[in-house]
Amino acid sequence: MNPLVLVNGSHACPEERPELLAVCAGSEVMLERQAALGLGALMEKVDGWRFITPVSGWRSFEEQEEIYRRSMAENGETFTRQYVARPGHSEHQTGLAIDLGLSGPALDFIRPNFPYEGVCQRFRTLAADFGFVERYPAGKEHLTGIAHEPWHFRYVGQAHARRMGELGLVLEEYLDWLNAGEGSAAWESGHI
Ligand SMILES: [Zn+2]
Repeated sequence: MNPLVLVNGSHACPEERPELLAVCAGSEVMLERQAALGLGALMEKVDGWRFITPVSGWRSFEEQEEIYRRSMAENGETFTRQYVARPGHSEHQTGLAIDLGLSGPALDFIRPNFPYEGVCQRFRTLAADFGFVERYPAGKEHLTGIAHEPWHFRYVGQAHARRMGELGLVLEEYLDWLNAGEGSAAWESGHI
């Protein structure tokens, strides 16, 4: 799976099935191989597994369909459109996205708690060095089509994650930037 693949409301997930690995020993949560290795290294760096629960990683089309259907029934359309991608349009289907929650008794499956402090913030601060970006930040909802999700991280690889952080761009903007002259030049000269 191309780590820069764009999946959103107007771009469907490619049908290829990623090569998957469990995010940690004994977990049923899986990610695409490179993403799983990056996450493992980052978690080790912040001693994350002691405090952070992997809530949802790779999902099949059928799983996304079931989550969407259940959320429509339980939470209604307004909530579901904000937080749950339509089947075929979820980044989780690429295996490159993970939802994480601060471990606790009432961890929410759709909106897990992942605060901007403590171990979660240490994870967030170091995420780019291990290839991850916070995919749906506040203020970019009009570009991503998804509400602010502090818990959803997307693997794009270390070089791209760092550059996206420096430029303050979400994936939609970053791909436009790469396709524009400046981005292509930087890419070709090896500065990304
Ligand atoms: Zn997610």
